[in-house]
Amino acid sequence: MGFRKADYIKVNDILATRRSQAEADAQRRLESVHAKIPELAKIDAELAKTGARVFEACQLGSEGVAERIERIKKDNLALQARRAAILVENGYPADYTEPRYFCKKCSDTGYDGTQMCECKRRELVLAGYESSGMGELLKTQSFETFSLDYYKYDSQAYATMKHTYEAAKSYAENFTAGKNNGNLLFIGATGLGKTHLSTSIAREVINKGFDVKYDTIQNIIMDFEQKQFHAQDTSQDDDPTERYFECDLLIIDDLGTELTNQFTLSCLYNLINTRINRAMSMIISTNLSPAELRRRYAERITSRLFGEFLALPFAGGDVRAAKLREE
Ligand SMILES: [Zn+2]
Repeated sequence: MGFRKADYIKVNDILATRRSQAEADAQRRLESVHAKIPELAKIDAELAKTGARVFEACQLGSEGVAERIERIKKDNLALQARRAAILVENGYPADYTEPRYFCKKCSDTGYDGTQMCECKRRELVLAGYESSGMGELLKTQSFETFSLDYYKYDSQAYATMKHTYEAAKSYAENFTAGKNNGNLLFIGATGLGKTHLSTSIAREVINKGFDVKYDTIQNIIMDFEQKQFHAQDTSQDDDPTERYFECDLLIIDDLGTELTNQFTLSCLYNLINTRINRAMSMIISTNLSPAELRRRYAERITSRLFGEFLALPFAGGDVRAAKLREE
């Protein structure tokens, strides 16, 4: 498990840019105060000799070395205090020439001691949102914004949706590393909130630091076709199908809307079967009823879908239409 390597590279770049920007700005401020306040430039020249002075103090032999270094330390502190006072006398904050890092905790290194800093984690989560394929949806869809109110006119639909909502929420909450988190099968017509709950789960799971990938079955199949029939067009290390096998949670939307032929069926079977064998989780959404799924797919696929997935029904009228009516 873990954040994607590509996201790490991207986030390391972001942090490195912040850090060098903060340091370049500090250098500019330093040069400008040196030009305005010659005494400050002198003090800094003096402070810059510290390393050389320590070296000399050690070269003089071990006798009295502690005292000599202590003296250098004292001189240094006095110079620093004088320096801060000069800046303040001239109307600058005492730390005016220090870099102003975006994150004070880690100085934009991404590490707070040996721990990953919270700022880096946050950026990795944002990168995960973006690369999940749900970037736009994640801006508005979450468990908090999923309203059961749209189902309240139909008590049976309400009960179904309450159960589905709670099962989805507990799936996301219990998603942990090092165990088989299982698979969900969302069944129901368009507009009943399948994508909304998929996004809500994705958000929680990405927040925990897992790699989540979402796409429609058509796009997934297209990537397999691209790989199979146009392999020479794409570079080897940019195989779009790789992530479908390797991400911690794969969300396949719109199962049943793809063209069915030997190739697509074998891609689908291989993907589902491989992930199940590796105990890697999936959420599959479909507009087809269980009976329609059985008619459309061979037993080797449906036995997986009905045997290895927790089926969650979606009920009610068209939620999108209900939303529009209320707006
Ligand atoms: Zn930080």
